[in-house]
Amino acid sequence: MLEEKNPQLTPISALGEFGMIKHLTEKFSLTNESSLLGVGDDAAIIDPLDQKVLVSTDTLIEGVHFNLGYVPLKHLGYKAVVVNLSDIAAMNGTPTQILVSIAVSNRFPIEALDEIYAGIKLACDRYKVDLVGGDTTSSTSGLVLTLTAIGLCPQDQIVRRDGAKQGDLLVVSGDLGGAYLGLQILEREHSVFLANPNMQPEMQGFDYILERQLKPEARTDVKAILKTLEILPTSMIDVSDGLASEILHLSAQSKVGIRLYEEKIPFDTMTITTADEFNLNPAMCALNGGEDYELLFTIAAADFDKIKNHPDFSIIGHVVEQAQGNKMVLRGSNELADLTAQGWDAILGSED
Ligand code: ADP
Ligand code: MG
Repeated sequence: MLEEKNPQLTPISALGEFGMIKHLTEKFSLTNESSLLGVGDDAAIIDPLDQKVLVSTDTLIEGVHFNLGYVPLKHLGYKAVVVNLSDIAAMNGTPTQILVSIAVSNRFPIEALDEIYAGIKLACDRYKVDLVGGDTTSSTSGLVLTLTAIGLCPQDQIVRRDGAKQGDLLVVSGDLGGAYLGLQILEREHSVFLANPNMQPEMQGFDYILERQLKPEARTDVKAILKTLEILPTSMIDVSDGLASEILHLSAQSKVGIRLYEEKIPFDTMTITTADEFNLNPAMCALNGGEDYELLFTIAAADFDKIKNHPDFSIIGHVVEQAQGNKMVLRGSNELADLTAQGWDAILGSED
């Protein structure tokens, strides 16, 4: 056991459940007008301030969603918050509160939980959201973190997945594929380390993609940018599972088809060079990889001029009728590939 080997570490039993909740949450304070009551009572109280309330939840399980062998606990806490805020941003909402439920085995000392909560606090400060509650239970196997995010949005600004119309443009924020390649680097260096613990990991020169994997950011800034541009997307989703799967969600819920142009997918240079190193097609990393937490949305074609030169956004495709399906126009040709949840299928011939 960790605490037996390290006498300076405190077992959870030393504080007890209530002492532990107090210890973990006392550094948090409420900053949002909508947060009327936070941790400490039977339930939190939230004032929606005449807006609609958006609620979303996500669970991260040790061994399924993260590996403590190479994910620092502080990063884990930060990322757990960010992935939930990203869901609120994907509705065009403003995140305001989170709840944190944690199931933890007693092999975790208090100091490990402190690290997770330090990451959670960093994200709360960075995104101006309040921790207003949660739950604490024990787990027999590993660590489970469930985050719930609450956000607000005026009714007429909410953007759902089902509003894309034929003729709309498909737009994505930022760049894609980096988080997946960051994970490839972490897994490669982790297996090198397991094979020979004396080997130093070679992480230098991969900062951007490692950060995309370990410390992703939620695009809560996009709402304000689009507002300034006077654009309200017709549909929107965040890129958590990969571009291909998100395109399939938008098209299925909007009952349309989508044309994606491979050559328009935005990449950071580091993503391209690292993909090359792993003999991967960067487009495949974007389509399949996921965890980029950018926003994918559709806008009316009439909004083209407002967004065409904006550095934060790339126009990567357009919306067609449902019968035409979801296809990617391959780089340097007009050949089409079927978009599938796994990426894309064999070349289908071309379209005029
Ligand atoms: P109950 O038994 O009524 O569910 P708890 O003891 O679970 O009460 O929680 C007491 C208070 O502490 C509540 O406000 C709850 O939201 C908060 N809380 C419990 N666990 C956590 C946690 N891990 N992180 C943040 N707040 C928590
Ligand atoms: Mg409880």
